Order: sequence, then C-alpha cells, then structure tokens
Amino acid sequence: MGKVTGFLEIDRQTPKYQPASDRIRHFREFTLPMSDAEVGKQAARCMDCGVPYCHGPTGCPIHNQIPDWNDLVYSGDWEAAIRNLHSTNNFPEFTGRICPAPCEEACTLNLEDMPVAIKTVEQALADKAYKLGLIVPQPAEAQTGKRVAIIGSGPAGLAAAQQLGRAGHAVDVYERESRPGGLLRYGIPDFKMEKHWIDRRVEQMSQEGVTFRCGVEIGRDMSLDELTATYDAVLYSGGAERPRDAGIPTNGLNGIHDAMPYLVQQNRRVGGENIASVLWDGPEVWAGGKHVVVVGGGDTASDCVGTAFRQGAVRVTQLDIRPMPPKTEDKLATWPFWATKMRVSSSQAEGAQREFQIATLEFVGEDGQLTGVKCAQVDDKRRPIPGTEFIIRADLAFIAIGFAGPNPEGLMAGLGDRLETTADRRGNVAVKANDTSYETSIDKLYAAGDVRRGQSLVVWAIREGRQAARAIDLALTGQTTLPR
Ligand SMILES: Cc1cc2nc3c(=O)[nH]c(=O)nc-3n(C[C@H](O)[C@H](O)[C@H](O)COP(=O)(O)OP(=O)(O)OC[C@H]3O[C@@H](n4cnc5c(N)ncnc54)[C@H](O)[C@@H]3O)c2cc1C
Ligand code: SF4
Repeated sequence: MGKVTGFLEIDRQTPKYQPASDRIRHFREFTLPMSDAEVGKQAARCMDCGVPYCHGPTGCPIHNQIPDWNDLVYSGDWEAAIRNLHSTNNFPEFTGRICPAPCEEACTLNLEDMPVAIKTVEQALADKAYKLGLIVPQPAEAQTGKRVAIIGSGPAGLAAAQQLGRAGHAVDVYERESRPGGLLRYGIPDFKMEKHWIDRRVEQMSQEGVTFRCGVEIGRDMSLDELTATYDAVLYSGGAERPRDAGIPTNGLNGIHDAMPYLVQQNRRVGGENIASVLWDGPEVWAGGKHVVVVGGGDTASDCVGTAFRQGAVRVTQLDIRPMPPKTEDKLATWPFWATKMRVSSSQAEGAQREFQIATLEFVGEDGQLTGVKCAQVDDKRRPIPGTEFIIRADLAFIAIGFAGPNPEGLMAGLGDRLETTADRRGNVAVKANDTSYETSIDKLYAAGDVRRGQSLVVWAIREGRQAARAIDLALTGQTTLPR
C-alpha cells in the first residue's frame, strides 16, 4: 500500500478550477493540474483495504486495480503504474476527466466523506504517461487473417477496436460523422474534455493497424449485409441517441431545441468544423444575450448550462422535476453504492439558477417566438399542484431529459424483425449473454455500449467494448487472451 499512515496524515485534495468568471470566457478544460508531489500524496492516502470496494462490483465498472496503481504512483513508478492501469482501461485520460467516479463513492474513506481522490490520480497518471512518452503504439506480433468491422467510434467502438487490433485482427471502424469519438467528441463539451485526447488515441490505434472510415453511415451508404458478407465479425456500437419525448406542448414556437443538436453544433464549432452534422442541419443556435431555460437535471442538461454560459447567456435556469436531494447521504444506508445527494456540477456552479420539483407545463410566446416557460410545482407523485403555476422568462429553451434508446431509423429500420431488441420501451439491441457473448440475433453481428445497455457512461462503454472484443476474438480463433 501507499503510505501506511497516509490516510491519517494527508487531507483529500482535488484539482482547483479556474474561477468561473475566467473559465466561462473559453471552451477549454479549466482544471489546474496538481504537482507530481501532490498527486503522490493523494495516492498515499489509499489504505489498500482487504476488500477494496473501489474496484469491486459497486465501484469501478472496468475494475481498475486502484490500490495497486495508487501504490505505484506513490512510489513514483509511473511506468509500472500506467501499465497496470492500461491492463483494465484503454483510455484512462478520458475516464480521469469525465467519469462520475463511482469508485470514490465506494472507497472506504468515503465513510468519513474523504475518499481517495482516485479519479484525480487516474487523470494525472494518464497525462504523465503521455508526457513521459509511455503511451506508444502496441501493434500485434502476428496477424490472424480475420477481419472485423466496427460500426460507431464512441468509447465502446474504440475500446473494442483497440483490443481486437492488438489481438491481431484487421479492424475497420465505420463512423457516420466526420471524425471519430462518438459522444466523446460531439456530445461532451470541450471544457470537460478537449478533443486532442481522442485524436492521440486515434493516431495510436491507426499505427497499431486500425483503419477509420469516417463519413460512412451503415444502413445508408453501405448495408449491414454487405459488412457481414465481407467481414468475419461485425460489432454494432452505434450508441443510444433517440431523445426521450418530453411531451411538452411547444405551440409551434421558435427557440425550443433538443439538447443534443445544440451540443453537437458547439462541439463542431470548437473543432473548426462546419456546424451542420448528421444529427442536425438546422439553423445556428446561440445563447449569447439570451435568457435560457434548460429542462432536465442530468449530465446533458448540465452541459447545456455550461455551453450557454460560455456563449454569453444572460441567465440560465435549470428545471428538475425531482425533489431537491439531501445535502448529505446516510452513509450506513448507501455505502458502498452510488448515493443520491445534492451534487453541483462545475457548469451549475458557474451561476445557474436551479429549480427543483418543478414540472414544465408548456412553452409560451409571441409572434411565433418563445418568450417563457410555464411551470408549476409538483407533489411527491410529480403531479402539478393547482394554483402554483408561474412563468419563467425564456428566449431559448433546451430539452435535456435523457435518451430513450437507439435510433430505430437508419440501420435498425432496415433490419426489421431480424434484429431482436429488448421488449421494454427503450428497444435496445438484445444480445445472448451480457458480459460473455454480446452476440445478437443476426449471424456474425455483435452489439456493445449504449446501443445495448441504453444511455450510460463512458466507463461502461469501454467495459462493453472490451468484453465484446474478447467474445469476438474467442469466436474467431477458438481461444483468447484478451481480459474480461
Ligand atoms: C451530452 C452528454 C454528456 C455526457 N457526459 C458524460 C460524462 O460526463 N461522463 C460519462 O461517463 N458519460 C457521459 N455521457 C454518456 C456517454 O457519452 C455515453 O454513455 C458513451 O459515449 C456511449 O458510448 P458508445 O460508444 O456506446 O456510443 P456513442 O458515444 O454514442 O457512439 C456511437 C457512435 O456510433 C456512430 N453511429 C451510429 N450509427 C451509425 C451507423 N449506422 N453507421 C456509422 N456510424 C454510426 C455515431 O455517429 C457515434 O459516433 C454523456 C452523454 C451525453 C449525450
Ligand atoms: S474509470 Fe471511473 S470508476 Fe473507474 S477508477 Fe476511473 S474514475 Fe473511478
């Protein structure tokens, strides 16, 4: 373990942020990196518990061996530490930045509200490894002669592609957008994760032999049958992008948008790309000088808040139908699981007005333009309470209430009953066995990531991509050394 008495002597520290007034002037990352010495001290706080819940089933979904690399970081052995971290996680620089860190919730020191700063150490370790030149291509020693196609280049597709390429298969990744990365690139804003991190991995993978074919939509530019006829296996990792229907009357007003097209537009703008995308080729949406209302309480809503502030919104209000959660959780009732408690994202901390237990009844306006959002307080069954209605001024509104599942049009529409989906209303792609086979009802077709599990997290997508790669390797060669 790190330092035997570390957790007694050293306080938890996480990186400081640029002040909100500075960071909303740009779209770049705004955390101030810690020194190596401070990162080592934070790693030293790890107690190397007999049962390390942080990497067990309630903690890290990819089972990062957290106590092991905390110890290696504490001893300054960056090379062994990154080797260990890469053994479970292809992209720690992504998760170190944007994972909500269920590992820290499960940390034993979280019983005292002072978990080890695991995510901070993970990011610092990945960034240091890049600086030291330790992240280099690792091409396979021998080729198997098998070909695998991957549909979609989000974290699930990227993780699978890297694993399969390193196992010696010829891997082609098909992506309908102009650049690889999926929601990492076009959903998550740059201020949470700059996109050069994706470019570096794509470069590494290209040097390992993976090819990226962007601007190709399977189901439109090429059929799935063409792929299954050409390749030995095909992995569908197309994400879950169908927005949940809010059912709020828009009264035909201008100024009301789904969150995703707005975020995609800004990400493309920052990336120097034309703002029109596969998802959205409508008019430019810009929050500068406007009163903005964001309907929804999750990550996507929060990203709209931060984006609107950076575009110069006058005021941003976020509406959440759920009651305000408690400030602190009852640890003995929740630990080591993820607890519901009041969390404030960095975007919300930039000045958002948050309203809880509020239903959005309708959008109101004049001359076809949105001017306000009619709301009401709700009771504990989420029913509007008569007489509590009020109107919030709004020139622009974003609906960010989550995703219903994969897009039933495009690739999936052409497959009809051949592709089995889950019976629930999400309609995710069904597989024979999660965690082991990832096989769909179509011969040679596998599915992983959000398209299979519904909208989730980057770390879960990486896990699914890795496990699907193992299943494919096993099916193609009869054996596998890829980890589960
Ligand atoms: C705004 C937003 C913010 C988020 N923030 C976080 C966060 O902070 N932390 C976190 O852990 N998670 C976050 N998530 C969730 C996370 O981004 C997803 O769970 C994750 O990206 C899913 O990975 P995936 O590879 O399954 O799919 P995706 O990332 O959705 O990638 C799917 C890819 O497939 C491509 N594709 C689809 N169909 C086809 C086709 N027919 N042909 C070719 N290509 C196709 C798409 O263009 C896309 O690039 C966020 C999600 C959103 C929307
Ligand atoms: S990937 Fe997420 S859960 Fe796993 S160690 Fe990193 S921050 Fe924690």
